[in-house]
Formats: sequence, structure tokens, C-alpha cells
Amino acid sequence: MTSVGLKNIRKTYDGNTEIIKGVDLEIQSGEFLVLVGPSGCGKSTLLRLIAGLEEITSGDLTIGEQVVNDVPPRDRGIGMVFQSYALYPHMTVRENMAFGLKIRKIDQKLIDERVLAASKQLDLEAYLDRYPKQLSGGQRQRVAMGRAIVRQPDVFLFDEPLSNLDAALRTQMRVELKKLHRKLGATMIYVTHDQVEAMTLANRITILNLGHIQQVGTPDEVYNKPANKFVAGFIGSPSMNFFEGKHSGGFIEGPSFKFPAPSGDVATVGARPQHLQIFKQGDSIPEGFGTLEGTVDVIEPMGWEAYVHVHVGDIPVIAHVETEQLGEIAAGDKITLAIEPDKIHAFDKSGDRIDT
Ligand code: ADP
Repeated sequence: MTSVGLKNIRKTYDGNTEIIKGVDLEIQSGEFLVLVGPSGCGKSTLLRLIAGLEEITSGDLTIGEQVVNDVPPRDRGIGMVFQSYALYPHMTVRENMAFGLKIRKIDQKLIDERVLAASKQLDLEAYLDRYPKQLSGGQRQRVAMGRAIVRQPDVFLFDEPLSNLDAALRTQMRVELKKLHRKLGATMIYVTHDQVEAMTLANRITILNLGHIQQVGTPDEVYNKPANKFVAGFIGSPSMNFFEGKHSGGFIEGPSFKFPAPSGDVATVGARPQHLQIFKQGDSIPEGFGTLEGTVDVIEPMGWEAYVHVHVGDIPVIAHVETEQLGEIAAGDKITLAIEPDKIHAFDKSGDRIDT
């Protein structure tokens, strides 16, 4: 079991474009840490720095007790799984998995044992003599994982490994990855742009934007206590609704909305779609709730739940409600939405969270 430490890691390409702008992160032994952020924020670069596929411009990277800045990738004790499986088409599953060990001149008996053990862990025993073209996308991705597992690395690095799979398979592979992590107990660092993957897989999530860490926390922390507006908007689907308004007398107000905001410097408030409740004409709204008056644009029913798209003044807002709350509401209707005070998120003018 091995920890990974990043101390003020920076990466500049071409001498002037700084992509990673001073990242500090301690990844604990056995942890499943997910690096998440929008496309281009530097996630893959950070992973490639840990792998040794790119050189660190400044800072220190430790794997276990050792500073590995100058250690070549093959000696770092890592196994990598990429988005493209890059299996050798002319080799069977068994040969694909064994290949990395063979070129390291490992004893054939040991290779056979490890390939068999990995194929059991990945449910690939029945496919060992097939060629990649005879496998489904999910099976191919499992072979790619098997190739990493047989090397028995201390740290696994995953770069968007599920992106090429269809939605159903992604869900299934997420569950398999979680089981695999539990079985192997290894340290895993996983890059994705998909916040659902991040939330479901991670022990802790690191949210990156523009080469900076925005927040490191458990899925529960980043969802319930986002450190800033960026995290609040990025984590959760549909995204949090934001309202910028005038702050006075303990409220944030704008045309058609009013939220309690007791603290001094609140510039923006946020309301998650599923925390907005519909109130019909004549219903009384409990004391202290934030309220919005809007007009329904579109209703998207999804069985027991529905998204209600509303505009509040010129702000587009989404409410995620149980279908039975909808009643007779239709596009074009005026409705009132309200939110409990302790579900409201508040941010100052630079976007940082304020705990009110
Ligand atoms: P992400 O994985 O978050 O989508 P990347 O780490 O791949 O982002 O890329 C971050 C930024 O670094 C991008 O703007 C990309 O164009 C730039 N970049 C990546 N690799 C190189 C390179 N070899 N040379 C110059 N710029 C690069």
C-alpha cells in the first residue's frame, strides 16, 4: 500500500504556458481519489506527471517514501489504464495481459499465475483465448485493466477509462471498478470529466479548474459544502441555480426572487434543482424560505420525477420535482418555487462559499 504526495507541482509547456499552477495534494494509501474538472483543466497532464510520462517543471512528487521526480515511469510502481484500450489485435486476451511481464523477462510460471488470478478478478477466465475483436467494449476495457493488474502496481492511474463505453456499460463498469478497488485495496487515482463518475467512485474528489485545485473533499463534502461557485456549479446534475442580487436587510433580492442571506458579504445565492419546491396559489410558504416567482417554459417528465424549466425574470431556472407535485401545471403557467433556508448556498463576490 502506497501513498502519493504532490508538493507545489507546476507544469509549463513550451517555456511559457503554465498548465498546472502549483498543486498540493496528499493521496492516502488505499484511497480511490478522483480528479475531476472540465475539459482542458489539466487533469490528464497531472496524471501524466504522476506517471512520469511528462516531466515536472517544479515541485516534488513522492510515491511511498521516495521522491520520484527523476525516476523513470517503469520504476515508479504504477499501472496505467487509458481511455483507448490499445490492446494488441493479433494477441489473445491471455497474451495481451502477459505481454508487459514477458518483456520484463518474468518467469513464465509466475506470468501464468498472475494472468489467471487477474482474469478471475475481472471475470475474464472464459475469454482468455479470444482476440480483442471477439470481445465487447466492456470486456476489452477489462483486459486493459487486467494488463495493469498483473504487474501488481502499488498505484493505479486511470485516464477516463470508461469514456468510450455506452451509458449502460459505463454504469456497470463503475460498479465493477468499485468492487475491484475493494478487492485489491490499492491506491487508485482516476481522471474523469464526468461528475457522476467522480461522485460514485471516489473516496475523495479533487476538483480542478484552470490548473488550480478548487476543492478536495469526500463526495458528501463537495456536494453539500462546495468551497466556491465553480464547485457548486460543476458537481450535481442538473447544475445548481444561481441568483445574483442586491443584499440588504438580511436578504438577497432581485426581480422576482428573495432569499434570506443573514451574513454580510453575500453576492450570490445558489439553489439545487431538487431543493426547489413548487407552491400553488393559496399555499402558504413557511417562514424563512427563499422564494422565486417564475413562468414555466418546458416540463420534462421522467416517470416519478420531472425537470421543470422556468424563467425567473431573465434567469433560467431548473426545478427537479416529484411528478405528483406538478398537478395541473403546464408550460406558460406562473408558479412559485421555494427553498428551505438551510438548503440555500451563499457565495461572496469573488465566488467563495460563505457559511451563513
Ligand atoms: P484535461 O485532461 O483536463 O482535459 P489536459 O491535461 O489534457 O486537460 O490539457 C490541459 C491543457 O494543457 C490544455 O490546454 C492542453 O492544450 C495543454 N496541453 C496538453 N498537453 C500539451 C503539450 N504536450 N504541449 C502543449 N500544451 C499541452
